[in-house]
Amino acid sequence: MIELVCASANPDKVVEIAALLDGVALLLPRPSEVPDVVEDADTLVGNARLKAAAICAATGRAAVADDTGLEVDALGGAPGVFAARYAGEGVTYADNRAKLLAELAGVAEPDRTARFTTVAMVVRPDGSETVVEGVCEGLIAPVERGARGFGYDAVFIPVDGDGRTFAEMSDAEKNAISHRGRAFVALAAALR
Ligand code: IMP
Repeated sequence: MIELVCASANPDKVVEIAALLDGVALLLPRPSEVPDVVEDADTLVGNARLKAAAICAATGRAAVADDTGLEVDALGGAPGVFAARYAGEGVTYADNRAKLLAELAGVAEPDRTARFTTVAMVVRPDGSETVVEGVCEGLIAPVERGARGFGYDAVFIPVDGDGRTFAEMSDAEKNAISHRGRAFVALAAALR
């Protein structure tokens, strides 16, 4: 089985990625001494590549990274690749959700369409790459619902669900239809 160093140190993400790549790749933890990468590319692929390439260079091993964006149609595609800092630098998830709901005030349901996109990427020491994408279409809810998950989960209603937000679903329910789940299923297939 191939070994991949995980560029993410977020324990929730590492557990999720390890499960999705089970039987295909053994996930090695990110070395704690490697400094965080500044994610300043303007595309999801660019940011995923920055993260994977940095870990690959530091360890001499193949590395896996992912990057996620949220595109809201009524906002011309914002926050897009800037989803983590939509309300500014150093903000909380709740600040970002509050800004999104404020920006969409007065926008009726049919026009609240949005999608999460995750790019997952492996970068190897020989410079070769495997890049895949996972997309989850949905609607931005009028108010927050649910207490699970993170980020924009409480305001995102996936179209492939049953009307609940991601924050009202179990991890397994979310992973089965989410952007990140789909990206890593595609990555497992590509690596097989
Ligand atoms: P990252 O590239 O995975 O760090 O994601 C960037 C930002 O997108 C995060 O800070 C979250 O605000 C948001 N985000 C990413 N994945 C999810 C998700 O599965 N649910 C809700 N928000 C997410």
